[in-house]
Amino acid sequence: MALLSIVLPAYNEEQNIANTAKVLAGLLAENEIEYELVFISDGSGDATFSEIQKAAAENPCIKGAEFSRNFGKEAGIFAGLELTTGDAVIVMDCDLQHPPQVIPQMWRLWQEGAEVVEGVKQSRGRESMAHRLSAGLFYRIMSRLVRMDMSASSDFKLLDRKVVDVLLALPERNTFFRALSFWAGFRTETVRYEVQERQFGESKWSFWSLMKYAVSNATSFSTLPLQLVTVIGIVFLLFSAVLAVQTFVKFLMGTAVEGFTTVILLILIVGGFLMLSLGIIGHYIARIYEEVKGRPKYIISHVTDNIRGEVVGAWKARRVEK
Ligand code: UDP
Ligand code: MG
Repeated sequence: MALLSIVLPAYNEEQNIANTAKVLAGLLAENEIEYELVFISDGSGDATFSEIQKAAAENPCIKGAEFSRNFGKEAGIFAGLELTTGDAVIVMDCDLQHPPQVIPQMWRLWQEGAEVVEGVKQSRGRESMAHRLSAGLFYRIMSRLVRMDMSASSDFKLLDRKVVDVLLALPERNTFFRALSFWAGFRTETVRYEVQERQFGESKWSFWSLMKYAVSNATSFSTLPLQLVTVIGIVFLLFSAVLAVQTFVKFLMGTAVEGFTTVILLILIVGGFLMLSLGIIGHYIARIYEEVKGRPKYIISHVTDNIRGEVVGAWKARRVEK
């Protein structure tokens, strides 16, 4: 029988683990789906990992790992994918904002031959105005850069084993899971879902962390910002040609003394754009630098007792035998 793995990244979610494990185990047993739950505690400062261990001790279908520090949700997802053994893998948040009721539907679509099942948000739940605005801006920028409509996409998706293997084989460190499943292609189906209210704890994303996420994903997925520098350069070149003609004409007519305002403005504007361009280029160099260093995406410090093999401290777990 086919095995379904569910990856659940968790950062300071001690209140959610036991409940989520119970809800998912109940639902999957009810639908007669053979499953495993893989919780990844992303360097949590609370009892998240001991909650995972407790759940794993009670239910052998649950396993998990703890990072040595906070590496971010992306790293959590990839560590989880690495630890899965299932024929299909679902990635979802462990705060149950991604409704588990959709899982049987995803599973059915997979059985019918879908290789990727994208969870698509029907609406964005009840969120604060600031969060809604920053998330809106984030998706607007992302969709532009990735050239795919990302506004409704989420990290809630099912991937076939071969898609998981493709993603795990990617050598890059700055990954963007959400867009990578689009990028990989494969036979894709979608499932609509309503974003649920968070039951316990609060959202881990602040405005700035979201903006940082946007910038880092934008640069890891697109070179458009770099081309923007060229475009700005061309615009300035045209503008300067016009100004040059004007200046020269004024000089010939002997009225060239005025124009300090223009000079000051030009210095400011050109200086500003130069710095901005350098910043953009610098960002890409930083990206290259990070990739070249080749540091691991994450470091695992602890695993639950039911995981054997050399996983601790390893970046890429050698495939763990069951
Ligand atoms: N998360 C994580 N590492 C982080 C931040 C968040 O693993 O650094 C997890 C978090 O525990 C949750 C999921 O990512 O399972 C989504 O986070 P959250 O619910 O805070 O985001 P939101 O639902 O508000 O977008
Ligand atoms: Mg959430």
